[in-house]
Amino acid sequence: MKKSENKVLLKYIQEVVQVQSQIGKWDNGPKENNNLTEILIYEYATSLEKITKGKITSQFVVDKLTKQLGTLRYGDFQKGIDDNITYDNYSVTSITYKQNCRINSKFGAHTIDYLDDNQEKSAIVLFDNKQTYLNDQAKTIYLSGINLDDLFDIRLTIFHEFTHIMEQVTIKTSNLTKQDIVYYHGNSIYINTKLSPSLTIEEYKKYIDNVEELLTSNATITYSGITTVEINNNTNKRIMHNQISEGATEYIAKLVMQELNYDTKKDCRYAKAVNIIKSIFASKGISESVTTYLTSPKDIIVYLESIDVEGKDLLHYISEQIINK
Ligand SMILES: [Zn+2]
Repeated sequence: MKKSENKVLLKYIQEVVQVQSQIGKWDNGPKENNNLTEILIYEYATSLEKITKGKITSQFVVDKLTKQLGTLRYGDFQKGIDDNITYDNYSVTSITYKQNCRINSKFGAHTIDYLDDNQEKSAIVLFDNKQTYLNDQAKTIYLSGINLDDLFDIRLTIFHEFTHIMEQVTIKTSNLTKQDIVYYHGNSIYINTKLSPSLTIEEYKKYIDNVEELLTSNATITYSGITTVEINNNTNKRIMHNQISEGATEYIAKLVMQELNYDTKKDCRYAKAVNIIKSIFASKGISESVTTYLTSPKDIIVYLESIDVEGKDLLHYISEQIINK
């Protein structure tokens, strides 16, 4: 990328950020005191272009990211504006959301799918760890979050969340085979695509039964990185295998940080999953693997599902290792 192209791209990002912040959809940065958002998008996009040796262009990253990102908040969601965003059927501005995500699950940040004017969008929030929450007994409870005074923390966190958006890859069913969508092993059926987490077991099974039909239709299917869902016929339970995707997401965020000359060795979020992904990516070449992960993650799923380890396929063997750490 030439210097003049850099300037054009930055100007383009500035304009998009300005429009989004003027209509109240995106924050400019923590405390609104700088133009951090445009810098972060620029850094992320140009770094991914370098990591993938130009196979994924900065312009592609900026367009995909800015089109999909409906809401961006530093600190917390805004009551009155973000009420329509829901997670587990609760508004993100409700006390229940705070209780579930910031007290029980201790999230530092969160990327959530939601409908904005009937369009599927993603919301990203980076929680401020200096926030406290007063409960009924007026007892102070500290909420989870990241350090919004620390640009390292902000960068690594937001690049991880940006990658959660970039890893959503939509493919026409006419370009897929049954094996790309479902994988049968023992008493389990694995669905390789992204489905709403609120579906019932019966709805998942119906989806599996209709896969052949889906392939002959004109539909599209979205993958969420290499996340799969396991439906176990014996237990009739659903298991979400997303930790291996978290490892890939974190690893890509770290590669972006390294591209920007940050030392990420000390940070060990998702350490086990990151190390496993690192060796899988290295075996096929980092640049090649990052490109495949962000443009056709199904290829990685199908590849890992084809390798047998102790009677399990490699993808779910690894996933269980991480879950049972
Ligand atoms: Zn994540």
